[in-house]
Amino acid sequence: MTRLATSFFFTLREAPAEAVAVSHRLLLRAGFIRPLASTSGLYTYGPMMQRVLHKVGRIVREEMDATGAQEALFPQLQPAEIWKESGRWTVYTQDGTMFTLKDGEGEQAREYGLGPTHEEAVCDFVRGMVNSYRQLPFHLYQVQTKFRNEKRPRFGLMRGREFIMKDGYSFHSSPASLEMTYQQMYRAYSNMFRRCGLNFRAVEADSGAIGGSGSHEFMALAEIGEDEILYCDAASYAANVEKAVSIPAHPEPVAPGHYEIRDTPGIRTVEEQAALLGIPATRIVKNILYVALGENGSRPVLVSIRGDRQVNETKLKNRLDCLDLRLATDAEVSEWAGVRPGFIGPDIEIPDLVKLVDRSAAELTDFSTGCNRDDIQCVYANWGQEGLVLGEVAELDTARAGDRCHLLPEAVLENARGIELGHIFKLGCKYTIPMGVLFAAEDGELKPMLMGCYGVGVSRLPAALVEQSHDRDGIIWPMSIAPYQVILVSANVQLAPQKEAAEQLYSELGQAGIEVLLDDREERAGVKFKDADLLGIPLRVTVGRDLEQGLVEVKVRKSGAVSKVALGECLAYLQEQIRLLS
Ligand code: ATP
Ligand code: MG
Repeated sequence: MTRLATSFFFTLREAPAEAVAVSHRLLLRAGFIRPLASTSGLYTYGPMMQRVLHKVGRIVREEMDATGAQEALFPQLQPAEIWKESGRWTVYTQDGTMFTLKDGEGEQAREYGLGPTHEEAVCDFVRGMVNSYRQLPFHLYQVQTKFRNEKRPRFGLMRGREFIMKDGYSFHSSPASLEMTYQQMYRAYSNMFRRCGLNFRAVEADSGAIGGSGSHEFMALAEIGEDEILYCDAASYAANVEKAVSIPAHPEPVAPGHYEIRDTPGIRTVEEQAALLGIPATRIVKNILYVALGENGSRPVLVSIRGDRQVNETKLKNRLDCLDLRLATDAEVSEWAGVRPGFIGPDIEIPDLVKLVDRSAAELTDFSTGCNRDDIQCVYANWGQEGLVLGEVAELDTARAGDRCHLLPEAVLENARGIELGHIFKLGCKYTIPMGVLFAAEDGELKPMLMGCYGVGVSRLPAALVEQSHDRDGIIWPMSIAPYQVILVSANVQLAPQKEAAEQLYSELGQAGIEVLLDDREERAGVKFKDADLLGIPLRVTVGRDLEQGLVEVKVRKSGAVSKVALGECLAYLQEQIRLLS
């Protein structure tokens, strides 16, 4: 129970211009969040927001506990040692993701990082304490503030530099046991997001160089989402574009012809090449030079792919298992290949070169491609002819809407945008091997434990919800995570009968366990209604003029439906409405 007249409360007529996302604007305007000293990516959660976060937290905990997972809490301040053990200190500090600090001076100084994630901390907790297969499996989770120095913090709570995450880590003695928990988490996550009122989709996600089918993301569908999802409902297939596979459209037919060198002066793009030679882009093999940065320095990589397709750099990075990847500059192309970009052939020789051919190019016949000499291309080229040797074939293509589904080729992929709400991941032994998290198996042999990890963006979730659930007047919270179930508007506090009736109803509702916010401010009724709409509380009760007939007005925020209810029946009516909206 809260009364506004004596609360900290504010709303804003306008959101700052830099807030572009609807959720960001509405959460700012409704006073749920405020940036700390205008610093980007740092927000104070006001009292309303905190109530929402508690409700999300409760749902998350209920679903986690129902699977047998146990809540714990790990330090946010983490010594560099454990990150060096796992090999992630360099990665996380070099790209600047981790906020780091030093304790002490000179040789004695100890380095720390503020936890962006907790695999290392959990592994350190578990190792040595769990020794036998008999103690496995188990699953520990926490709900805690994480720190990440995001390069582009934006959209308010969507991408902060400090945010709340639920992160869980499970430990197993066998792949079957990990699989069981993974499936349990898949269901628990689906329950959580459904209970929070989100329109979401589980999609196959990139799982780094480990590969396999070991990772799903749960995406809230929204235009503003930073991820692209490809899906085929007929085959129940859905994947993040980083991971998605498809069957590209057939290459267009070409008239019969034979291998020939043609002049193509000054061309640079596939489009120019296609226009000049009068051939479709689907009959061109383009050859793109990258630079991959690995543990032992960088090396050139050539990818040959069909002219109308794009290289999926996530897939390429995974294939190479490299730390970083970038396109070679024009100068590098000239220096290494001895030609201008656009004229490299699939058979170029460069010292230390990794050559990969995407399937789309590998399957192509009678194509045009570069010949390693400026201003010429060949046409009607085929692998295995004219000295053109087919290199290592890989799946490096970026799937896109309109491509055929690889599971059901008569169906076509569609796309949507999504906000990542959560991520479940079979880590395997990625951390347990370097950190020595071992157990004695049934046969006595010492083995590394298998691990799974499961994250939910607790503070991102309400922002995603607002993105999906609002109108031009404000937020529309679902009952499950609304800051209050009912807002009770005392229309005119100057009028004693109205004021008294509102006060009485307020205590009646409160005593019945309804979460009620009383608007007893000395403001005009219009101002209060505007604020009530902006706040998005599911039910509004107004004690106003109708009181003379012994009635109050109940309005459902979502549908806008208004009913007049006898004052004495208001409690029962609200209880029924809450049940219906829950
Ligand atoms: P993203 O691709 O959006 O950066 P991520 O892959 O880095 O997410 P994880 O490390 O899997 O995310 O973290 C688990 C969850 O935490 C994500 O699914 C997301 O909901 C949330 N999350 C991640 N980064 C942020 C952030 N900067 N602000 C708010 N929530 C975040
Ligand atoms: Mg991230």
